[in-house]
Amino acid sequence: MRVYLDNASAKKVDPGVVEAMSPWFDRPVNPSSLHTPGQEAREALEEARERVAGLVNARPEEIIFTGGATESNNLALKGVALRARKGSLVASAIEHISILNTLKELSTLGFPSTLVPVDGYGVVDPASVESAITRDTVLVSVMAANSEIGTIQSIREIGEIVREKGVYFHVDATAALGEIPVDVERDHIDLLTFSSNSIYGPPGVGALYVRRGVKLQPIIQGGGQERGFRSGTENIPGIVGMARAAEITRKKMESESRRLKGLRDRLIRGVLEIEESYLTGHPERRLPGVASFRFSYVEGESIILSLDMLGISASTGSACTSKTLQPSHVLLALGLKPEEAHGSLLLTLGRWNTLDEIDYTVQALPGVIKRLREMSPLH
Ligand code: PMP
Repeated sequence: MRVYLDNASAKKVDPGVVEAMSPWFDRPVNPSSLHTPGQEAREALEEARERVAGLVNARPEEIIFTGGATESNNLALKGVALRARKGSLVASAIEHISILNTLKELSTLGFPSTLVPVDGYGVVDPASVESAITRDTVLVSVMAANSEIGTIQSIREIGEIVREKGVYFHVDATAALGEIPVDVERDHIDLLTFSSNSIYGPPGVGALYVRRGVKLQPIIQGGGQERGFRSGTENIPGIVGMARAAEITRKKMESESRRLKGLRDRLIRGVLEIEESYLTGHPERRLPGVASFRFSYVEGESIILSLDMLGISASTGSACTSKTLQPSHVLLALGLKPEEAHGSLLLTLGRWNTLDEIDYTVQALPGVIKRLREMSPLH
């Protein structure tokens, strides 16, 4: 049996998405061309914009297509800071590395930032955000939910505070979209990062929602596509795929989230039967598809390799930081010691996981942990 429980790293593209994309591979697709095929591509692009906007209650003209969530995060933070010319930024300590490293880069350019701590469950206290905002803050960035521990933030409450302070509010919704509702009006969001693959669309495509009136400087210069905010010929097959993914996600979100929660809770209950195993993140305020744990006396990497031999694909945390072999900054921010953070296991569920797969995993894991502990000098 092959069980794929690493949906936070990459998702299988929905077959309906592949179908929507395929006609766009065997014709010329440049929406800036004035001839008929070019104008057909333009129509497809504008239709896609409408569909993607519809997922978060935005207007089509407020959507900028990008090459993925990392690019969208860069554009949001650098775009606002560079346009403002001076100022500081605020973000949570458990943001994705594409936010944290962008903040580091901005600090070298004279835009300092403050990281707001989280509690032991990974929750950002809206009051801490409020007190981190100073007179020169230009932007606050808080992710809607964390992909490594699943914790969901009080985005609406934080949005209200940020709006009242007259500061732009950016939300990285990569992990949250498709699993919980996000609404740019209700949640007072000015900029929002989308990833296509996290809603079962093709990888390498994303979008940034930019509320009308937000002052943003482009970071990629060229032919002025995407209203000048993101130059470069648009990836029409990818964008059409992302739009179809958004449409499917919108229809399925409620029932699929309910189904995933059922599987997740069964998985969590089963895994926590293992001695000295702990859930990381919040017990209730968590994404339907995220089950995250840590185990004493074992290394996360050894668990992953052992599970892989049994046909189970899992991860220790974010694939984006796996090259560093450092303990996850997210787990350290929860107050875990580095040796505790090293024993992490992240199981992320998706649209194609079944009950049988969950039961297989729950049966397989205790033996893996037991064997690794027997070999561990820490035990
Ligand atoms: N933000 C979050 C919350 C993520 O989990 C990820 C990675 N899936 C990204 C941003 C970056 O996405 P990408 O690697 O597709 O640019």
